[in-house]
Amino acid sequence: MFILFSNQALLEFRKNLANPLAFVPTMGALHDGHLSLVRAAKEKNFTVLVSIFVNPLQFNNPDDLLKYPRTIQNDLNLLENEGVDAVYLPSVHHVYPPNNPSKQICLPNNAIESVFEGHFRPGHFNGVVQVLHRFFSLISPQSVFFGQKDLQQCMIVKLIIDEFFPNIQFNIVPTSREKSGLAMSSRNMRLSESELKRAEEIYVSLTALLTFDPSQIEVQIQRLKQYEIHTEYLSYIDLPNFEVSTSNTGNQAVIFAGYLGEIRLIDNLFL
Ligand code: AMP
Repeated sequence: MFILFSNQALLEFRKNLANPLAFVPTMGALHDGHLSLVRAAKEKNFTVLVSIFVNPLQFNNPDDLLKYPRTIQNDLNLLENEGVDAVYLPSVHHVYPPNNPSKQICLPNNAIESVFEGHFRPGHFNGVVQVLHRFFSLISPQSVFFGQKDLQQCMIVKLIIDEFFPNIQFNIVPTSREKSGLAMSSRNMRLSESELKRAEEIYVSLTALLTFDPSQIEVQIQRLKQYEIHTEYLSYIDLPNFEVSTSNTGNQAVIFAGYLGEIRLIDNLFL
């Protein structure tokens, strides 16, 4: 497995690849959810490049950035075991060179950037757009793989691709869950044993909402409160625009974000 620290090394690796290239961007602290993206890419016989980069631009909360888990040696072992071809590990100054600020990338005016995650994490999606635009431009992958767990991010990525990279194939991989149903997340590492147990109730609530019934939303918010899970949003939304659903259209999801103690978790299910 190649470990690429610089853009130069990345461009060298990119030359003369036998198979088309799949790119899986991550922020590290890898778990089986991340590896499911790698496996999906490998199954389609791509050469697989994974990036590990904790993108400061997408953290609206400095404390969250500081405390974001970093487990690089373990990450590299996991990726090597999966047969990943190369890992790109840029440092912040490679991605955002101080003396060469690239222009800010804007998505066409689209409300999806400012609702739900965009509302509660101002600037978050702008950070996602900047870093992915840089990575996609540099890497020129044929295909990219993202997790359904970050559903709103998936819709933003789709917009980036439609607008700037129409030749990139976009893949969404279903959310990997613990046996309890809890969505795997790097942030789960920061939960206490009791919080981890209570976090399972998020999936219970989402499952209870699988049949479209807006009257049950408040019931579930109150139910989660009993487990000291504080909901930021729990909503039916229409896809792909993330507008609050007013009727049962069929192309929908139920989405959740909330806090257990200091830790913010998100999850969703398609209806
Ligand atoms: P992150 O490291 O959190 O930025 O995630 C990197 C990629 O892994 C994103 O496309 C996520 O949606 C995806 N991912 C994170 N958790 C899961 C999961 N439990 N199941 C599937 N994909 C996931």
